[in-house]
Amino acid sequence: MIGIGDQLQFNSTNNFMTIQEVVLRRLNAPLKQPYVVSTRAIHAFDPIVVCIRNDDGGHGWGEALIAPGYTAETVEDSWQFCRGAAMAMLGERPAAAKDMLLDAASRHPGGASAMLSALDMMEEAPILRIDENLRIPLLAPVNAHEPAAMRQEIEQLLAAGYRTLKIKIGFDWQQDLARIEKIQQIVRGRAMLRLDANRGYDLGAGKAVASRLHPEGIELFEQPCGSDEWAAHAEIGMCSTVPLMLDESIYSIEDIARCGPLEGVGFVKLKLKKVGSPGMLVNALQYIRDQGMEPVLGDGVATDIACWAEACVATRCIRNAGEMNGYLKLGRSLFKNPLCVEEGEMVIPKGYWPQVDDAALDAVTVIRDVLTAQ
Ligand SMILES: [Mg+2]
Repeated sequence: MIGIGDQLQFNSTNNFMTIQEVVLRRLNAPLKQPYVVSTRAIHAFDPIVVCIRNDDGGHGWGEALIAPGYTAETVEDSWQFCRGAAMAMLGERPAAAKDMLLDAASRHPGGASAMLSALDMMEEAPILRIDENLRIPLLAPVNAHEPAAMRQEIEQLLAAGYRTLKIKIGFDWQQDLARIEKIQQIVRGRAMLRLDANRGYDLGAGKAVASRLHPEGIELFEQPCGSDEWAAHAEIGMCSTVPLMLDESIYSIEDIARCGPLEGVGFVKLKLKKVGSPGMLVNALQYIRDQGMEPVLGDGVATDIACWAEACVATRCIRNAGEMNGYLKLGRSLFKNPLCVEEGEMVIPKGYWPQVDDAALDAVTVIRDVLTAQ
């Protein structure tokens, strides 16, 4: 759990409301098409989704998808943590619930983040309020591997307005390099490329790719090696023709501080689910800048709920394409008022507030647990 600064929590001005109900869900929400990363092919998102209600009619939503290997947490542990936290917060005031969650958050970042985010939404935290029409440039993944299919997909993405493309690598490094060069030829400078190996390389493969990349149009090279392989990333950073970004390596403020002195590490990636609440995310993103690096934000494997919360933060803190595009991969939006995309940008109208579509949510819920205050 990453947490720093004075504004770790938003404290409601309504100090009298208490928490009346917590509904926990496990989802299995099918994707439009499989999303293939170096470690697996994802066919559906299976986050834990939290809804917290108070006795004043307010409610808020949070979520965290616990990905195997991405975090030390397990889905079952996170579920049990959320259940325990839910029972403990019933009848309590939100501020007390947040204190409890912050105490436990370093051991259960995903679960704590889902609950802290739901509490912030329940209290309509200022960071989530949208006072003007907003547009947030999004990144789009290139899924195809065959040259003709890649050409078609890339031309479609460019025509749709996307200007930053994500290329999943971390498979066979020579084939990855060949695919990257092919994509560079197709794109011809019309979009920036983010290359994400998702820990798929060893040191040798990471160096081989990093040192051979033609830097034209490549924004960054993300997480070549394992989460704990700091020495490998230091070596790869020294020979890389493009800046590195670390993602899976980052789970604490100490991890961010560790990146600062590494030559060649220019970016750090964060997601709401490894930081905590939206307010805590603001502070963590600023901390990355304070260390001389540029933050990248967004969860490509989140539903509308976390993507919206991340977008509210991105519009205030982020200068590059947001990765909060997971919701666009879902077969069906979880919102009655889905976030539209125009010209490759998420469009958030002034005054927007999400309305969760109960029928859509129920249709993809596999476990539901309702905890109510006595
Ligand atoms: Mg990544």
